[in-house]
Parts: sequence; C-alpha cells; structure tokens
Amino acid sequence: METACQLAAEAFIEFREKSGEDKAAFLRTIADEIDAVEDDIVARMTEETALPEGRCRMEKGRTCFQLRLFADLLGEGSWVDARIDHADPDRAPVPKPDCRSMWRPLGPVVVFCASNFPLAYSVAGGDTASALASGCPVIIKAHGSHPGTAEIVATAVRAAVEKCGMPAGVFSLLYGSGRTIGQALVKHPAIKAVGFTGSRAGGRALMDTAAARPEPIPVWAEMSAVNPVFVLPGALRERGEEIAGGFVGSLTLGVGQFCTNPGLVISGTEGRDEFAGRIASLASEVAPATMLHKGIATAYHGAVEAMTSRGGVESLARVEVDSGGSEAGAVVLGTSAESFLADQTMADEMFGPATLMVGAGDEEAMLAVAESLEGQLTATVHATGEDLEAFGKLIAVLERKAGRLVYNGYPTGVEVCHGMVHGGPAPATSDGRSTSVGPRAITRFTRLVCWQDFPDNLLPEELKEKNPLGISRIVDGTRIES
Ligand code: NAP
Repeated sequence: METACQLAAEAFIEFREKSGEDKAAFLRTIADEIDAVEDDIVARMTEETALPEGRCRMEKGRTCFQLRLFADLLGEGSWVDARIDHADPDRAPVPKPDCRSMWRPLGPVVVFCASNFPLAYSVAGGDTASALASGCPVIIKAHGSHPGTAEIVATAVRAAVEKCGMPAGVFSLLYGSGRTIGQALVKHPAIKAVGFTGSRAGGRALMDTAAARPEPIPVWAEMSAVNPVFVLPGALRERGEEIAGGFVGSLTLGVGQFCTNPGLVISGTEGRDEFAGRIASLASEVAPATMLHKGIATAYHGAVEAMTSRGGVESLARVEVDSGGSEAGAVVLGTSAESFLADQTMADEMFGPATLMVGAGDEEAMLAVAESLEGQLTATVHATGEDLEAFGKLIAVLERKAGRLVYNGYPTGVEVCHGMVHGGPAPATSDGRSTSVGPRAITRFTRLVCWQDFPDNLLPEELKEKNPLGISRIVDGTRIES
C-alpha cells in the first residue's frame, strides 16, 4: 500500500500535466484492452458472481462505453469550465486584476470496487474513468467477491498504461480487507479523494475516517436507497395491470441487486388490493436465483425477516428459499400509511428482490409518506394528467428527496449519458452534489484554481488569451463558444 501511494503521488506530478488528447487516448486504449479480453472476463466473472453471461457482456459494453464517453469529453475540452475576467487597471477606486479559473485535478484517488457491478463500478468503472479523465491517479481497493475479474481488468489497464507511456503509479490494484487496507488507504496523506459503492455502514465508516484526517478529503459514497414508486389513483385505474408487470420486472432484475431497485411502492387505496394481488402473483412466478455473494444473501434474508416481523406489515407474496443459503426469492410485503409513518425502520433498504407496498388513501397521506423519506437515488411517479393536478405538491416534495425523478417508468436501468444524475441527498449518497454515472462525474475529483495576473505563457492552454484549444469559455461574464 505504501508503495502504491508513493508511486501515485509521484505519478500525479506528471499525469496532471497531460493534455486532454493524451488522457483521451489513454482511456480509449484501456477500453480497447478490455474489449480484447472480453471472453476471459466473462468466463471468470460468471464463475465468481453467478451473473449470467449476457449480463456480463452487457456490463463489459457499458464499462468500455463509459471510458470512451469520458474520452470524448476530454477531446472536446470545455468540461474545465474556464472563466476569464480581464484586468481593468483604470477601474476606480481600485484597479481590477486579471482573474482566470478552471477545474484542476485533486490528486490520487482511492476507488472501492462495488460488489454489484464487478465491471462498471469496479476496477475500470465510472469512478476510475472520471478520476483518470480529470488527471488523478487511481488506487483500486478490490472487492473480495470478484478478485479474478478485477485482476483481468487491471492487467488490461496496466497494458494501456505502458502503451500510452503513462507514469507507472497512475494505476494500482490492491487486495485486502476494507477494515485494514481500505482504512489505511483513506488515512494515507498521499490520497486526496475516495470513491465508494456499497453499504451505508461501510460508506459512513470511510466518511468518518476521511473527515478525521489532519487534511480531510472528500468521499463520494453511494450507499443505500429504496427508490419509492408512487402510483397515483388515475394511473392505477387506467394502467394498474401494466404497471404491475413493469414493476415486478424492475424489482426482480438482477435478483434485485441494483442500487435503483424499487423497494417501496405507495399507491392509493382504491383498487390497491387488486394491484397488490397482481404484483404478488407476478413476483411469485419469478424463480429464485443466486445472489452475488453469501454476505449479500445473508443481509437480504435478515432484512426481510426484520421487515416481516414489524407490527402492521403483512406478507403478500414470498418465494421460499433456504434462508441460510445464497439464493434469494422475491418478497412482497404490505402496510398502511399510518403504520409506515409510525415506524421509520419500515423505510430501511432490503437489498434484493423485496418491496414494501404502502396504501395511502389520499393526497395528504401520500405527501406525508413522501415527506418522511430519507434521501433517495430515484423517485418514480405513475400518473395521468388529472392525477398531476390533484397531487400537484408531490413532485416538488420528491425533487427535494431524490437525485433522479422518473415519470411513468421504472428506476432500474441507469442510462449512461450527459444528462444522467445517479446521486441524491444523504444517505443515498454521502453528498448529493454529484453523480456517479455519466460525464458530469468528471468534476468530483477536481478543485477550482484561479490564476491572477499571470503572463499568458504561464497559463494552462485552456485559459490562454487566444483560446488555442477552441473550447467554450465565459469571458467577462459572457459565454463564448470557441
Ligand atoms: P460493503 O460491505 O459496504 O463493502 C464494500 C467495500 O467496502 C468492500 O471492499 C469492503 O471491504 C469495504 N468496507 C466495508 N466496510 C468497511 C469499513 N468499515 N472500512 C473500510 N472499508 C470497508 O458492501 P458489499 O460487500 O458490496 O455489500 C454488502 C451490503 O451493502 C449489501 O447487502 C447491501 O445491503 C449493500 N449494498 C448496497 C448497494 C447500493 O447500491 N445500494 C450496493 C452494494 C451493496 P471488505 O469486503 O473487506 O469488508
């Protein structure tokens, strides 16, 4: 660990000065190297994770797409958000200085691999792509549940490091326990930021460690969410059956092991029994499947047991599996808005294919449930035009609660695109001001630097007077496209 941190600190000095073009070529080469070992990755990943081959190939595609999307962003160059205010020596009562600022990289970043995305949020996943794109070396803390997959991807990244002539310490992969290696990395003075996807307890522990350092550092942790789905009365009447089908598909996708899994459904009481019955019957037909690792399965069975034992919760459907094993079956539970509001633990995440259906008779009850929720990654509303008039305040409440609002859809399936936000107020994430999916993530490992009264030849290319890179900038308060 000491060697990796020292090499990363040394590499930062050189890597931070690389041009956008050089970093883009590096990211593209990583993607090409990963493409070249797709079959090896799939063979190993299916064994380590129990994920089917199709999902592994799709996640490999997503991983390489993300790397190339960041490369495109670097090629265009305007992401640095360059702002220039020219000097005014004649300004009274004091002259105005020349001020120019832009985003610059923070330094070496530790990325904790996610158990539920062994490729797209692991060794060469979203956090790694955004850190490298902004000019930060990366040290990976591998997840113990897919070590071989991590090694194959890391070998591909190392090949790209060599091919592109990048400094060796720009990328390292470390194995070991979170409580020893992981904690030591976050405490190390060479480390300047952290990316994490996992449990609330793990994310919280790392946030506390980072905040207690002599030099506190940012932790971008994506933790837990129940991703509420609100089904308003008109939508329930008109499309109840269709919504039930789409919902169960979203609930059971990937054995429910997505951070956007819909763990809470809130619907009006009229027609609710039929709706709940339909969801329960569809969920009962979904075959149980093996979860990513034994720890996740144990946590899932424990969370379902705890929820089922709460006063006012009834079991609507339950696909039976061995509660000591690694398989999970769908579980649908039901309760009333009154019971839900009286017991905050009913909003706890059950990471897996389980959901709690809450019956809320009117707008007041639905708003009260919405107001009671913690920060979420997503909030979904199924509505008709009439519903929206009658439940006008709901969307505004949900905007305060979630990073992404979904209309007449389902929360799983996070598109990788410029407009995506995969974040949200705590405790969904440690800090709701960013996203872990999509190119907007490029600024999470950066800080602003201002150059005041500097001669043109000492300025970064992005801030030079003649705009040699032809990027979009704000000059004296006006956006100039190139
Ligand atoms: P996890 O237990 O939080 O582990 C994630 C990573 O963080 C691992 O590398 C782990 O190392 C490390 N870690 C955990 N606690 C730590 C600590 N106190 N200090 C330093 N490092 C620490 O998550 P997981 O293994 O992926 O899954 C466990 C549970 O997390 C799931 O059952 C689920 O509830 C939740 N989860 C939620 C999401 C989501 O997106 N909402 C995603 C994945 C998991 P070790 O393995 O060595 O402990």
